[in-house]
Amino acid sequence: MLLSLYLHIPFCKRKCFYCDFCSSAATLSEMEEYCAALVREIRLRAEVYGQARVNTVFVGGGTPSVLPDFLMDKVLLELHRSFSIGPEAEFTIEANPGTLHRDWLVMARGHGVNRLSLGVQASQERLLHTLGRIHTFQEAEEAVILAREQGFDNLNADVMFALPGQSIRDYLHTLGSVAALGVSHISAYSLILEEGTPLFVRVRREGLALPSEDEAAGMYEAGRGWLEQQGYRQYEISNYAKPGSVCRHNLGYWRGNWYLGLGVSAAGMLPVSAPEMSGGAEVVYRRCENVTDRLQYQHMLAQGKLPLQQEHPISRQEAMFEAMMLGLRTVDGVDEGDFYARFGQPLQEVYGQQMEELVTQGLAWHHEHEKRRFFALTQRGLLLQNRILLRFMD
Ligand code: SF4
Repeated sequence: MLLSLYLHIPFCKRKCFYCDFCSSAATLSEMEEYCAALVREIRLRAEVYGQARVNTVFVGGGTPSVLPDFLMDKVLLELHRSFSIGPEAEFTIEANPGTLHRDWLVMARGHGVNRLSLGVQASQERLLHTLGRIHTFQEAEEAVILAREQGFDNLNADVMFALPGQSIRDYLHTLGSVAALGVSHISAYSLILEEGTPLFVRVRREGLALPSEDEAAGMYEAGRGWLEQQGYRQYEISNYAKPGSVCRHNLGYWRGNWYLGLGVSAAGMLPVSAPEMSGGAEVVYRRCENVTDRLQYQHMLAQGKLPLQQEHPISRQEAMFEAMMLGLRTVDGVDEGDFYARFGQPLQEVYGQQMEELVTQGLAWHHEHEKRRFFALTQRGLLLQNRILLRFMD
């Protein structure tokens, strides 16, 4: 079985103003306790999945690079002991400028980490300040140089648009500055204003202005056009890569590959070991979610238990909807042959009516690529994706 691994490191130097991820600042002893629990979970999970061939690993957060190198070293050592991770595996760690050190990068390389994902977000100090980021753009530049010196040539930069006070010009300047660093992959996300965050409070109560929906769509279009001109091909609504640099780990999520989530709040999608029914429907796989409270996570593992919050049995019908929901995020779209191989039913037979309506409205199209047939959204369809997906829910 082919498997992807996701490890969650829930620590940051300080909380950014827009963030509602499972992350917080922590002391060294809190980090040590967490890593001890993570090592336990890795061992427990390996009892069942240790024989799988791991094709991608993604260590995310939080900010994995705030973990001191001796702790990250322990975690990665255990990961290699417990799972079969070959040199061909894509192995990504997220890192933030202002937290990277040479020794840390050397340690990561030594464990086969071959891709770094850096949270750059913007090239203007005033925007970084509005977001509550801990770093300057100059530190982002220094982080890229440092990473290159240690042999990392597969680099991603995360950037954001639709920020308060950000113009299209600002956004294009950020893209230009990041591309000038020579990164092979750029993830460009629209700001999602999460309730309860300090930024939410500033926007809703203090009247800090956000770009309108049309302005945000304009930024997306302008950014996409510019990136494509520079040779970054869009392969998912928010992701652009130079040839040969797509993120295999994320592509695996969108294509429905198996993955195991390790760490507090991590989620996984795993096959059922034997035929199973739930509510009269055949279960085709299970979605597992770990508890979201760090202390509870540690406590459960100290008792030798898996730190599961819940396991959802996913029926065939739910799985088919999920395949559409994830596949249509990608520019190639849903591979009709893969869909048939997974579910034993042609895509046309399940969703033919919705598909043809979308094609007629210019929101989707059928295309062939390397002798495979795909159903995909057009650029206009990608912008309206959330509304379009509702049609497949029936
Ligand atoms: S670095 Fe990322 S995870 Fe950490 S607080 Fe900022 S946005 Fe959240």
